Amino acid sequence: MHKEHALIAIPTTGLMQETRDFEITCTAGDFNDPEIEAAGFSGPIRVKVTAERGGSEIALLIETVAGCDFACDICLAPIHRELNGSYRVFFDCSDSGVQATPDADDDEYRILDSNATEIDLTEDVRETLLLSVPMKVTCVGNPDCRLYSGAKEELDIQEPEGSGSSWKDSLAKLKKKYR
Ligand SMILES: [Zn+2]
Repeated sequence: MHKEHALIAIPTTGLMQETRDFEITCTAGDFNDPEIEAAGFSGPIRVKVTAERGGSEIALLIETVAGCDFACDICLAPIHRELNGSYRVFFDCSDSGVQATPDADDDEYRILDSNATEIDLTEDVRETLLLSVPMKVTCVGNPDCRLYSGAKEELDIQEPEGSGSSWKDSLAKLKKKYR
């Protein structure tokens, strides 16, 4: 995967101070990634990177704010949510020629190349966005989402796609059996 220009990158020269913030705005389409599109991201994505330097280590905190379009899991009504994601990455910039210890190849702990002029965070931001997507999205306070408010009748509800509800079906069958 070679890219001529990193979509989201911070200059390493900005990391010499103790703490520094970087703000980057892009759009969901900039990622040109089917996973981002499939997740429902739309419109602008705001990325804030806080770089904190402590000794020979730099801690980056990546925070994302992005709009995402969902369908309610229960009534399928369209829902727009603003998602907040955060992710931490650590860089070793000791620049002492000491090689990384074998167990330091952790995804979140990296060696900062002393020749690098910038750190490409595109992939990290992409991950942060995908991690910020909730597993389930349902209407909140929507009177039209009748099934949601009728939680007591949940067992009688037919799932629209019948996915992942086998335990519910079993429970419903049991209920009928002992009625
Ligand atoms: Zn709903």
